[in-house]
Amino acid sequence: MSEHDHHHHGGEHDRPLSGPALRVKALESLLVEKGLVDPKALDELIDTYETKVGPRNGARVVARAWVDPAYKQRLLADAGAAIAEFGFVGRGEDIVALENTPTVRNLVVCTLCSCYPWPVLGLPPVWYKSAPYRARAVIDPRGVLKELGGEVADDVEVRVWDSTAELRYLVLPERPAGTEGWSEEQLAEIVTRDAMIGVARVTVPAGSGR
Ligand code: FE
Repeated sequence: MSEHDHHHHGGEHDRPLSGPALRVKALESLLVEKGLVDPKALDELIDTYETKVGPRNGARVVARAWVDPAYKQRLLADAGAAIAEFGFVGRGEDIVALENTPTVRNLVVCTLCSCYPWPVLGLPPVWYKSAPYRARAVIDPRGVLKELGGEVADDVEVRVWDSTAELRYLVLPERPAGTEGWSEEQLAEIVTRDAMIGVARVTVPAGSGR
């Protein structure tokens, strides 16, 4: 009987990778081996989803909130519904938008694993999933912010939000000075993934805008 159970639950033995991760690894190895996929192209694809395609959704949401006060109100009241106005929908997990102000900075982490608001940000960056970030974001959020996105003044409150499978967070960063009169599209271009996780502020890159 134990032999029977063993056969059916063989995947539950201790392994360095989870079931799905193992399957992905196996598929990747097979595709590379058969010459169907160039590992470099695959890395580029993952990078695209981590830093470009994914966060662009969130950037559009943030830019809309910056130019449209009614939309911002909807976003803060019910982020899931406001984000769904763009057609970005999750798999039933709730999402909450956290507004940064001159006196409050919000920082998002998942202390247990890597829960992330993927409909607006895509795939989480490697550092977000790393043990040091997950621990330090809670123990020393100001230290983390100083390293990743610049020091936060003492009179600014830092709030840390721990994501779960059921509840994800999107930071609504402060609109930077010097962007008055910019179009929604121009604004979306300067909103970064890190700003929407809360580790950095949005800044105006030299030469951008109009
Ligand atoms: Fe998680």
